[in-house]
Amino acid sequence: MNADLHCHSSVSDGCLDPAALVRRARDNGVDLLALTDHDELGGVAEAAAEAALLGMRFVAGVEISVTYGDETVHIVGLGVDPDDPLLCAGLARVREGREGRAERIAAELERAGLRGTLAGARRLARNPAMIGRAHFARHLVACGLMPDVRTVFEHYLARGKPGFVSHRWAELAEAVGWIHGAGGIAVVAHPARYHRLPAAALEKLFDDFTAVGGEGVEVVAGSHTPDEMLRFASLARRRGLLASRASDFHSADESLVDVGRCRPLPPDLVPVWSRLP
Ligand code: AMP
Ligand code: MN
Ligand code: MN
Ligand code: MN
Repeated sequence: MNADLHCHSSVSDGCLDPAALVRRARDNGVDLLALTDHDELGGVAEAAAEAALLGMRFVAGVEISVTYGDETVHIVGLGVDPDDPLLCAGLARVREGREGRAERIAAELERAGLRGTLAGARRLARNPAMIGRAHFARHLVACGLMPDVRTVFEHYLARGKPGFVSHRWAELAEAVGWIHGAGGIAVVAHPARYHRLPAAALEKLFDDFTAVGGEGVEVVAGSHTPDEMLRFASLARRRGLLASRASDFHSADESLVDVGRCRPLPPDLVPVWSRLP
């Protein structure tokens, strides 16, 4: 069973339109796909229609930006009803913050000597409501100022760099509540990426997540090393969490792992897709 339960289309910061993403997943042998755009369900209908045409299993998903302490944590919702009014209203509120944040990012980049980045990022954000750091990074690459997106993050957009601005997203409990209200399963995305949380704080994140009913964790993730995969496999066992498999694919040029091409889950874990329709 080739399940890939985390990827992005151009409705957030992926580079492929939803239908093209689904076709790429099918070509890569995916049996079950979840589209999980950031804070946005607008690509789900197109992706679901294409998957139906191809006879591929598909579930609606979303990757919600959450502020936990002063860290940004991503919570993936799988199998959500994309028309659920409370989920849609919550996501709309999260998206609303992006425009002002983009203006602040551009102002900081200007102080660092980079002019006109807001217009450039806007041109690359096919969904204007979903402008994000990836669009700023692609603009600076397209200008020839930086060699690749990763380098832009390293020099300008990661925390502590000149173009980073702090921002408050959703609360953990409300994000999990929106997902559950919409009939979905909540999963902690790419846990190894929260480097700033010391081990005890990461355990506390999972305590708080399970206290509000969160069910799963990405064990296999595009950004996880083999050691990190083993670490979160053992966390899933210890805490009785469902395990997810997630390329986090954005584009062929930028992503470490193509859609549907992640490692298999360790066979003793309970896969999150055993609970999906
Ligand atoms: P935002 O939601 O606007 O803060 O953007 C977060 C997105 O930026 C992530 O989902 C990735 O697509 C991208 N991103 C974050 N860190 C990096 C990095 N170090 N290299 C490349 N892309 C990154
Ligand atoms: Mn992204
Ligand atoms: Mn993420
Ligand atoms: Mn993602």
